[in-house]
Amino acid sequence: MTIGINCGHTASGPGYGAVGIIKESEHTRLVGHALMGLFRQAGVTVIDCTVDKAGAQQEYLAATVALANRQDLDWFISIHFNASKEHTGHGAEIYTYKGRQYPDALEVCANLTELGFKNRGVKEGTGLYVIQKTKAKSMLIEVCFCDNQQDIDIYQATGGAEGIAKAIYKGIYKKVVLPVKPNLEENHHLDRQGFHEFVGRIAQSDWREHHIVLPSVVIAQAAIESSVGASELAQNANALFGIKLNGWAGRIYIKDAVEQNPDGSYRVDKNEQWRAYDSWEQSILDHNEYIATRSTDGGKTLRYGPVIGCSNYILACQYLKQCGYATAENYEENLINYIEKYGLHQYDEFEPEQIAPEGHLWIVQAGAYKSLNNAKRLQNKLKKMGVVSLIKIYQETFAVSQSVG
Ligand SMILES: [Zn+2]
Repeated sequence: MTIGINCGHTASGPGYGAVGIIKESEHTRLVGHALMGLFRQAGVTVIDCTVDKAGAQQEYLAATVALANRQDLDWFISIHFNASKEHTGHGAEIYTYKGRQYPDALEVCANLTELGFKNRGVKEGTGLYVIQKTKAKSMLIEVCFCDNQQDIDIYQATGGAEGIAKAIYKGIYKKVVLPVKPNLEENHHLDRQGFHEFVGRIAQSDWREHHIVLPSVVIAQAAIESSVGASELAQNANALFGIKLNGWAGRIYIKDAVEQNPDGSYRVDKNEQWRAYDSWEQSILDHNEYIATRSTDGGKTLRYGPVIGCSNYILACQYLKQCGYATAENYEENLINYIEKYGLHQYDEFEPEQIAPEGHLWIVQAGAYKSLNNAKRLQNKLKKMGVVSLIKIYQETFAVSQSVG
């Protein structure tokens, strides 16, 4: 997907935008750059069609169109702020070729309205040069009126340029990321017991191999965060944990986030981006991977260092909260209570290490092991490659001659 974005008007001189309570040219750039960031983060190719300087208004328009027409775009988007003579005009509107009511344009309008702006609708914009002359589907967005106090108050209250960029992005990009296909190989309508067993099986095998998050903790997190697999994210995005983008290059699901403030009150963060998956299994493995690698200082320290490999569920839950995994105040108690209520620590108990008696080895086709657990590890790897293997115990002398021969 390729999107052309034009931060409306020049930065100075001919072609400069309206000046109201805020300056149009400044804020088309703030919104446009925030929007470019969101698209780029999602892996979309962005062509910056902004022109900062021109000898004349017409030259600015022609240069913009020339930038837009150099490649095939899925959308050409021009960002603007409106103004009116009496400064009484207010609201958001979008111009399209022949006033076409593109679903994306209607949605952007609806998303801007949701922020509090009046919906002025999708209008006939054929007379606008950048709409008429660009080859791609195009929309010119008048975010709101830059000379109207009511609109500027809304603009600032909803996060300014960032809030507007998210509203536009959601209208255009979600078509591409949604719907995430439901995974038909997994049963996504399990009862609580079935859910614990499903997550437990994957969490156990990952624990054996990588020692990241203790299985009981993974199960409790998945159950609580996904309402035992029934949440919107679990059903529509195959995501059992609410993990936000944070560098994720995969599929994205967009929905609001309810977060708890340090003072205990709640707030809604609009249009947050969440990681979406092909399966619940992928979601579980990515959650562990996320815990194992998440760093907020460029990799110098691991944010969840103490959680990794911690084999005591009470400590692991405490560390998760201390390291800032969730904003919910009672997250840690909820996890511990859940593990104890449903006896999930049984998933943390593994067979004790069985060492072969003197002169004997555990053999798995390709290798021989003193430890049964190591033999099982190889068997698991083979299983993933589609190879069924048997573990038998042989006398060491036999094994050695086999491997040499
Ligand atoms: Zn304008």
